[in-house]
Amino acid sequence: MTYLEWFQTHGEKHKAIMQKLSHLSEDEVIAYFRFDNMLIKEPDFCLLYQTHTKCHDNATLNCYLCACPHFRFDDNGLSKVADKTLFSLCSINARQGSQYINSSSIHHNCTSCFIPHTEAYIKKHFKRDWFEVMAQR
Ligand code: SF4
Repeated sequence: MTYLEWFQTHGEKHKAIMQKLSHLSEDEVIAYFRFDNMLIKEPDFCLLYQTHTKCHDNATLNCYLCACPHFRFDDNGLSKVADKTLFSLCSINARQGSQYINSSSIHHNCTSCFIPHTEAYIKKHFKRDWFEVMAQR
C-alpha cells in the first residue's frame, strides 16, 4: 500500500467514525479517540490495535490526528538530496523528529514525537473533517 492509499483509507475510516459521533461535543469526540477507548470501540481503525500496541509509549495517547498534519510524504519523492530521494519531512521541523537515511532514500522518523497525539494540540486544531485538518497545516 502506498502512503497516499493509506492516507485516503485512514481518512475514510475517520469519517465513518465521525458520522457515528455527530451527536457528541468536541470534548466528547476527543475523549472517544483515546487509545484505550478506540482499542475496544474501533478495533479496525489501526492495525496496531490488534496487538494492543501503541505507536508511542505514552499513557495519554490520543489517535484523533493520526497521521500528523505536519507530516509531508510523496510516494514518488518530494525532492532530491544529493544522490538520495527525500520521501517525507516535517513541515515544522519539530526537534523531536529525525530521519531514517539509507543509500538511496531519506524518510522522516516521528517515533520520538508526541505533538499530534496530545489533547491540547488536537483541541487547538480540532475540526470534525480529518481531511481538512490534514490539508491545512
Ligand atoms: S516530527 Fe512530530 S510534528 Fe513533525 S511530522 Fe512527525 S509527528 Fe508531526
